[in-house]
Amino acid sequence: MHLRYSYRIYPTAGQRASLARTFGCARVVYNDALAARKQARKDGLPYPKGTDLQKLVITAAKKTAERAWLASVGVDPLIQSLRDLDTAYRNFFDSVSGRRRGRPVGLPRFKSKRDARQTLRFTRNGFRLRSNGKLYLAKIGDVRVKWSRSLPADPSSVTIVLDPAGRYHASFVVDVEPDHLPEVDAEVGIDLGLTTYAVLSDGSVIDNPRFLRTAERKLKAAQRELSRKAKGSKNRAKARRKVAKAHAKVADTRMDWLHKQTTKIIRETQAVYLEDLNVRGLARGRLATSVHDAGWATFRRLLEEKAARFGRTVGIVHRAFPSSQLCSECGHRDGPKPLHVREWTCGACGVLHDRDLNAARNILAAGQADRLNAPGGPARPGVAIPRRARPVERGTHLGDLPRTGTRAAGAGGIPVP
Ligand SMILES: [Zn+2]
Repeated sequence: MHLRYSYRIYPTAGQRASLARTFGCARVVYNDALAARKQARKDGLPYPKGTDLQKLVITAAKKTAERAWLASVGVDPLIQSLRDLDTAYRNFFDSVSGRRRGRPVGLPRFKSKRDARQTLRFTRNGFRLRSNGKLYLAKIGDVRVKWSRSLPADPSSVTIVLDPAGRYHASFVVDVEPDHLPEVDAEVGIDLGLTTYAVLSDGSVIDNPRFLRTAERKLKAAQRELSRKAKGSKNRAKARRKVAKAHAKVADTRMDWLHKQTTKIIRETQAVYLEDLNVRGLARGRLATSVHDAGWATFRRLLEEKAARFGRTVGIVHRAFPSSQLCSECGHRDGPKPLHVREWTCGACGVLHDRDLNAARNILAAGQADRLNAPGGPARPGVAIPRRARPVERGTHLGDLPRTGTRAAGAGGIPVP
């Protein structure tokens, strides 16, 4: 399976200039190829093949006066940029035909130099890891890397990312064998809440990360400051950078926290069951802030990715399932409960329920039943929800599961932090 490992990199001023030039060339090649495909469509011609496009927008273009500067950068990232366009088209067609799950994907759009995130991909031909720890990029040079952890194998590609906060990252893709953990008996249902982040069917509670509120307050202050600056002024540019930095801080903090929570759950349980919440629908409503804060979609994605890697199962219970109406003791359906009702007593058996804990127990039971009733019996690890293989975001998160060799310490062979 493919995993992604990200590290901060620190290019010199000269390297930053070379990278900026390469970002620009990759963007122009992408846009030229997109324009050529759109023109072919307009003219009723078949889509130009990848190799023909490459000849047109790279090889031949270099020989023209308007595009001669394409020769000043490495060719590898330019070719990868065309591959990205192919992927964008494939995603669009798969989305239209229903082969691709998730939200609809639109037609590829032209890239702008104002895009917040700039990326470049290098394949094996375009980069090397030096024995002195530097990352060699063709036509850029040896770039300093902050190795927050070691790579488990030789990477097959690296993507250089310039984020809106002006930071550079190298994101390596590494092919590794799944690292299945020894089986455990525990299974857990999770109710994603609003007063707390989540309640688990075993009674444990994951609290909302308050530190995110603090970070978000700072972000809002920076945004207010930005709106007061005159358009086009130097101070406005400075304020915009400050907002981007605050954004990056919130995102990093949230991701770090989510990694810690999901790793703990995957380490301790064999199967995890969640409700299929319509996160996108919720996010549009008035609960917006807390939903975004909570990052439920990311929480679920991380659980799924880690389950696939470590031989665990994630099951999704359909969201029409009335998890907060059923009594988890006797199965009586007690009727809808408004959000403010945190506790209720079952009208049939008289048990007093904590709303979220009761829901988590119902989700566990429904998930287990789904799994047993599924064709072929219990789902194989990690395949409960089929989805497109996606590299797992790891590497800069020290809270991640320890690798083989460090797992003997925990009870039942499960790694302890
Ligand atoms: Zn009951």
